[in-house]
Amino acid sequence: MIPYGKQDINQQDIDAVVDVLTSDFLTQGPKVPLFEKTITDITDSKYAIAVNSATSALHIACLALGVGKGDIVWTSPITFVASANCALYCGASVDFVDIDADTYNLSPVALEEKLKQAKLQNKLPKVLIPVHLAGQPCEMHKIHLLSQEYGFKVIEDASHAIGAKYKKQPVGNCQYSDITVFSFHPVKIVTTAEGGVATTNNKLLAEKMQLLRSHGITRDESQMTEPSHGEWYYQQLELGFNYRISDLHAALGISQLTRLQEFVEKRSVLAEKYNKALTHLPIILPKQLKSAASSWHLYIIRLKLTALSKSQQQIYSELRNAGIGVNLHYIPVYQQPFYQNMGFDKKYFPEAESYYQSAISIPLHPQLSAAEQQQVINCLEQILI
Ligand SMILES: *Cc1c(COP(=O)(O)O)cnc(C)c1O
Repeated sequence: MIPYGKQDINQQDIDAVVDVLTSDFLTQGPKVPLFEKTITDITDSKYAIAVNSATSALHIACLALGVGKGDIVWTSPITFVASANCALYCGASVDFVDIDADTYNLSPVALEEKLKQAKLQNKLPKVLIPVHLAGQPCEMHKIHLLSQEYGFKVIEDASHAIGAKYKKQPVGNCQYSDITVFSFHPVKIVTTAEGGVATTNNKLLAEKMQLLRSHGITRDESQMTEPSHGEWYYQQLELGFNYRISDLHAALGISQLTRLQEFVEKRSVLAEKYNKALTHLPIILPKQLKSAASSWHLYIIRLKLTALSKSQQQIYSELRNAGIGVNLHYIPVYQQPFYQNMGFDKKYFPEAESYYQSAISIPLHPQLSAAEQQQVINCLEQILI
């Protein structure tokens, strides 16, 4: 099976991890701050807080922004469940904003409409979590203007988008948001096995997230409520968690990030090849905005079902049977049984519904060979024509 995504680990990555294994620190050593420094350099942000997953980063990002009981968080329905779950961890409620028909990202038009309604009903969100689906940045400038007008905070879920650019600037610089979150799960652009990071330019948010990732404990005397009792002393100021990333994972991350450009470049070349080779098929190819330079985490095609004699399910299983590891990103979050119990109605998300009925992700990762990509193209031709 040709997988839809796969990590790319080389000898340098292996050596970096082995070096840490034989060093003094397996965790909380020098690699984590170095990893964070690498992230702030790459994203052009002031602070980076590395944690054990993007899910943890989303959770502490919400907490740092004060999300709690009675608050409302909005996100895109076409995302991994973690983008919505983070609000529920904080005791807040979640709602969704329908997607754009072309980019499949949260639609600024639908957002503005929903904000107008929410204002009348006194149900405005405290935080919005736009998701850069497949690595293509959302229209952050428009989202930012709306956040100013309606007074909500913004967390970018950039789990797919390290190495992507918006208006020529790196995603993660938080120019149009309060916090940006990246994931380093093995299917993403670069990996630490498990891991995530939150970037911000706001010192208070950074300090809050630093506390929350490690039990709410500080050793910094300037943050303490009374003078230190001695060198052993620490204080717990908040109810935090153990969301720390280890030095082993951070070392892998540092090594992987040296190849970020190369990974994104390889993915772009492969995407470009698909763009050219698939134009004659009854499918819609991924549309890119001028403002966006995608990191190409995913290559998502949409089936033109009216021009096809087969169903999405049929095409999906024929591709899998032919050894093409297709996937579907994502089932609308509100369709999950856990969310259905909260009473979401499909009729409010027509674009997300239509997307889910026709989308398929085809293989795209740096190790995909020209021969494998050709096999994907040939199979699509055979199955779709
Ligand atoms: C992968 C992913 C996450 C969660 O990332 P983890 O690092 O596995 O916790 C969150 N949001 C999106 C959009 C993702 O793709």
